[in-house]
Amino acid sequence: MTVRRQKLMTLPFIISMLILLSVITTATASGYAAFKANKESLISSYLESNLDYAKKLSSDTDGIVSLMKQNVDSIAKAQEQGIMTQESLNLWMQSNKGIFNSIFIADKSRTIQLFSSATSTLSVGTVLTSNPSLDAVALKKPLISEPYIGNSGRVLVLVSAPVFNEEGVYEGFVGGSIYLQEENVLSRLLRDHFHKNGSYVYVVDSKGTILFHPDPKRVNVNVLKNLVVQKVIAGKEGSEPVINTRGQSFLAGYSYMESTGWGIVSQTPSAIVNEPLKSLIYQMFLQSLPACLLIVLCAIGVAVFISIPLNKLAKFSEEATSRGYIKNEQMKMPNMKLVIYEVRQLYQHISNHLNFLSAEIGRDGLTGLANRRAFDITIQEWMQNRHTFSLILIDIDNFKCVNDTYGHVAGDEVLKSLADVMCKMSREQDICFRYGGEEFCLLVDSEKREVAYTSAEQLRRAVEKMENITGEPITISLGISTYEKDYQTPDQLIKEADSVLYEAKSKGKNKTIVYNRY
Ligand code: GH3
Ligand code: MG
Ligand code: MG
Repeated sequence: MTVRRQKLMTLPFIISMLILLSVITTATASGYAAFKANKESLISSYLESNLDYAKKLSSDTDGIVSLMKQNVDSIAKAQEQGIMTQESLNLWMQSNKGIFNSIFIADKSRTIQLFSSATSTLSVGTVLTSNPSLDAVALKKPLISEPYIGNSGRVLVLVSAPVFNEEGVYEGFVGGSIYLQEENVLSRLLRDHFHKNGSYVYVVDSKGTILFHPDPKRVNVNVLKNLVVQKVIAGKEGSEPVINTRGQSFLAGYSYMESTGWGIVSQTPSAIVNEPLKSLIYQMFLQSLPACLLIVLCAIGVAVFISIPLNKLAKFSEEATSRGYIKNEQMKMPNMKLVIYEVRQLYQHISNHLNFLSAEIGRDGLTGLANRRAFDITIQEWMQNRHTFSLILIDIDNFKCVNDTYGHVAGDEVLKSLADVMCKMSREQDICFRYGGEEFCLLVDSEKREVAYTSAEQLRRAVEKMENITGEPITISLGISTYEKDYQTPDQLIKEADSVLYEAKSKGKNKTIVYNRY
C-alpha cells in the first residue's frame, strides 16, 4: 500500500500568512471606514453648498423677476398715460439692457403696436397667436407665462401687464420676452455657476419644464420625472442625491421661488467625490505601508522565534524514531532555550518518553533484566572504557525437561526466579542480562578474574538452593572468559565463554569453568 504524503506547510509560513492576512484585513477595514466617512462628509458638504447656492440664486432670480414685473408694469402705466412712442420704447430697451430680450405693446386684438428688440425682427402690425398672448387678453392681468414657442419661432417666456384707458377699459398689454435659448437675464445670472467640476444650475417652471440650462438644447424640455424637480415645484427646499432624467447621478440642492412657482436646482456630479477619495486612499496606503511592512517583518520574526524550537523538536522526534531505535543509537535531546511554555512541555514530554523507550528497548519483558540488545551496547562500551572485565555465560541445565514436565508457564517462572537470584547475588557494579532463551550472562567489572569466578560459584550454589515453582532443584552451568586489550570484537570473548560453558555441560553440568588463554 502506498501512503500518499500530503504537502505540508511550515509553522512560520502559516503564522506569517495569518498575520499578513490580518494586516491586510485591518488595513482594508480601516481604509474602507476612512473612505466611507470621508465620502459621507464630502457628499454632505456638496449637498449643503448646493442648497446654499440654490437658495441664494432663488432669491437673486426672485429679485430679477420682480424687476421684470415692475418694468412691464411701468411701461403699461406710461402707455395708459399715452406717452409711449417707438422712440421712448427703444430708449427704454437701451437703458434697461438685459432685462428683456424684446419688449412690445399689443392692443386687445393682440396686434403689435410698438416693438423693440436688439435681436428679433418681429414687426409692428404682427398679430400674436401664442397662448400666453391669448391668456393676457383673456385674463387682463399681470402674467408670467410658461415657456412657449413665439411668433418668431423662439422658445420664450412672456412677462405681461395689462393696459387700461382712463375709463378703465382694457386696451391691450405690455409684454416683455425672455428668449430662453439665447443670452438672457437668467443665463447671465446663472451660467456663472457652471463649474469645471461639472456643477451647474438649472431652472424649471411650475410644470417642470426647463427655463434655464447651461446646455440651451435642454431648454423647454420637461423633466418632471426627476424626483428633485417634483419636490422643488411642490414648494420644497432641500438637498439630496438624485438620478436625473438622463440617468446621471448628482448631488443636488434645490430651492422654490414662491413668486413664480419656479424651482432652482444646483447640482454636482456624484462622481466628483471619488477623486479626492482616490487620492486619500492612495495617501493612506503610502503612509501606512512602512508600518504594515514593519508589522509583517516583526510577525515573521516572531513566527520564526516560535517555530524554530518546535521545528527542532519535530525534526529530532523524526530522527529519533527512524534512526535511534532502528540503528540502535542513543539519541540526545537537542539543546534549545525553553522560553515558550508549550515548547518546554513538549520538550519534557519527548525527553521523558525517549528515556522510557530507551529503557524499555533494552529490557527483557519476562525477567526485567537487561536484554541482548543492551548487552551488545554495554559490552562495546566496556571494551572501550575498561582494561579488564569478565563475562560469565550461564545456561540452565536440562531446561527442556522443566518445560516438558511442568509446562512452559512454569518454565517461565523458573526463568524469573533465576533472574531474581542473579540480581540479588551480583555486585552493584556488575550487570546481569538475559542473553536469550534460557541463557543468561553477567558482566563482571573487575581487573581480577578470580572475582568473576567467585561470583559465578556463589551464584551457582545459590541457584542450586533456589526455591522454584517445580519444587525440584534447578542447576546452571557457567563459562567465564576475561577481556584483555588485544580483543578486537566482543565475539571472541563470547566464543571463549561459550566454549567453556559447553565444556562444563559435557563434564556433567552444574559447573563453572574459566577459559584459559595461556
Ligand atoms: P542442556 O542442559 O544441555 O542445556 O539441556 P537443555 O534442555 O537446557 O537444552 P537447551 O539449553 O538446548 O534447551 C533450551 C530450551 O529452553 C528449549 C526451549 O524450549 C527452552 N526455552 C527457551 N526459551 C524459553 C522461554 O522463554 N521460556 C520457556 N519456558 N522455555 C524456554
Ligand atoms: Mg541453552
Ligand atoms: Mg540449557
